[in-house]
Amino acid sequence: MKQITKFPRQALGFFPTPFVELKGLSAELKGPRIFIKRDDQTGLALGGSKTRKLEFLVGEALARGCDTLVTGGAQQSNHCRQTAAAAAACGLACHLVLGGKAPTSPEGNLLLDILFDATIHWSGAHRKGEDIPALVDNLIAEGKKPYVIPYGGSNEIGALAFVEAYRELRAQLQEGELAAKAIIFASSSGGTQAGLCVAKELFEDQVDLIGINIDKGEAGDLPFHAYVLNLTNSTARMLELEHAFTQSEILLRDEFTGDGYGVVGAAEREAVSCLARCEGILLDPVYTGRAMAGLLAMVRASEFRRDDIVVFWHTGGTPALFPYAQD
Ligand SMILES: *Cc1c(COP(=O)(O)O)cnc(C)c1O
Repeated sequence: MKQITKFPRQALGFFPTPFVELKGLSAELKGPRIFIKRDDQTGLALGGSKTRKLEFLVGEALARGCDTLVTGGAQQSNHCRQTAAAAAACGLACHLVLGGKAPTSPEGNLLLDILFDATIHWSGAHRKGEDIPALVDNLIAEGKKPYVIPYGGSNEIGALAFVEAYRELRAQLQEGELAAKAIIFASSSGGTQAGLCVAKELFEDQVDLIGINIDKGEAGDLPFHAYVLNLTNSTARMLELEHAFTQSEILLRDEFTGDGYGVVGAAEREAVSCLARCEGILLDPVYTGRAMAGLLAMVRASEFRRDDIVVFWHTGGTPALFPYAQD
């Protein structure tokens, strides 16, 4: 197996992130013991799990001598906001290809993208970086050395960060003498899930890794489940791990996508206010609110026993609370 320390890495955040028990939430639900992994506290520009991926992606960009980061996403992309901040921190230029059109008054993540001095290109219906190749050609013609980060930072290098993240959480669980039954997280471009699945195999652990599918859409040309499976296998190959994953090892729950990506419904609103009220912790309406709504539904459906230990991975996204406040 190839050592993760062999891959270039640029420090961008503060790790390990906190790991704490949500006693108020467990009491409210009369449910299992619930713990939270606070990746909303990674420290880079209001935090989020993308900091982890960017440490490896920006590490590679710098190792290759690139001077410009290019990525894309939705107008309220957390990934784009964190990429813009990472570029600023490392003295790189940043170009973002964002879905939709320029709003009259930028809010939330978009406001921060502008503050970090990213150059923004509006791409209408394309919110997954479809227009990046043309932009890259232009940048090269101008003499720039662009480094393209895929949608959500989810390629093998980005997923690698979550192999490392699992190791970090595992040490915290061991320190507390805790054996997790399940780890629940929002899954949308697949890198988080792929990395965690590879790590579970590496450590030969028993835990259920349950991705809550956030997005009804497809990932590239593939259904999302198949896409995550492919990314898991290619990440394992990159690490020279001898294991061929099958679809049954990728646990993805599709029943919480509501009216689609970024459409805030009653379930997300309830989850956000539940965690705020019971714990004083902020979730976001698009990812962690939806994932927590999934956790609440699973607890209410008695999918866990009272003495089970369930970990909720808070992947960040809180700047999006404000632009979605009226939804
Ligand atoms: C990107 C993101 C996710 C999803 O992670 P993937 O690796 O893209 O599946 C979850 N939560 C937040 C807040 C995110 O920004």
